[in-house]
Amino acid sequence: QPVLELEGVEYSYRRNTALRGVSLKLKPGEVVAVTGASGCGKSTLLHCAAGILTPDAGVVRVDGQDLATLPEEQRAALRRTKVGIVLQFGQLVPDLPLIDNVALPLLLDGHERGEAHVAARHWLDQVGIADDADAVPSELSGGQTQRAALARALVTGPSVVLADEPTGSLDSRAGQELLDVLLQAARYRGAALLMVTHDNVVASSADREIRLRDGLIQHEVSLG
Ligand code: ADP
Ligand code: ADP
Repeated sequence: QPVLELEGVEYSYRRNTALRGVSLKLKPGEVVAVTGASGCGKSTLLHCAAGILTPDAGVVRVDGQDLATLPEEQRAALRRTKVGIVLQFGQLVPDLPLIDNVALPLLLDGHERGEAHVAARHWLDQVGIADDADAVPSELSGGQTQRAALARALVTGPSVVLADEPTGSLDSRAGQELLDVLLQAARYRGAALLMVTHDNVVASSADREIRLRDGLIQHEVSLG
């Protein structure tokens, strides 16, 4: 059973049609790269998959559940626990130490503080910024922010990980390290990973590449 499924998803901003009917399925542990020219709809696709945007038509299912038919409270809970999202611009809470930023999804989900901090520390270590646990976001570089955002996306053990240009502001070595953490999270923990990228190295590390053009899938390549 696919953990993430989009069926005929359409989305328009007021005047711009961004998605014209996109369908895709991700199995557990599968890594899919979404590529295509700027403006082809990559970010919109990711936001629809994340439940941040509600499609005008079509269906998005996470673990078989149609996001649109769930009551808001359940939808929020599903997003919090089953979907890890790494957006381009970190979205960390200012003034909150990294350890708490990363622990936040667990705390919001009712986990006990000590337990949440143990998990947060594990993921800070995995992404290579354990030494910055007590720093606040304003003290971090772009690369450190991106690592922290990744740690926060993975801390709940999500079944679906969505990443927008996960290695975007990193040099190639740091980017490769972060990509390895993402791929490991997917492959060894059985999470499906959907990542938007314009980096060929990143795209070629996926099992499958989906190329968008003008809001439609132009072609799909298996890279296995
Ligand atoms: P990509 O991520 O591939 O660059 P986007 O999903 O950001 O593409 O954008 C797809 C299309 O939707 C583009 O034409 C873009 O200009 C338009 N678009 C994106 N965001 C907005 C917005 N907030 N308001 C209006 N149009 C938007
Ligand atoms: P990306 O490369 O991630 O798609 P963009 O530069 O396309 O980034 O978009 C950056 C931000 O601007 C996004 O929040 C997107 O929704 C918004 N945006 C993109 N195109 C438009 C547009 N035509 N009108 C209004 N907002 C837009």
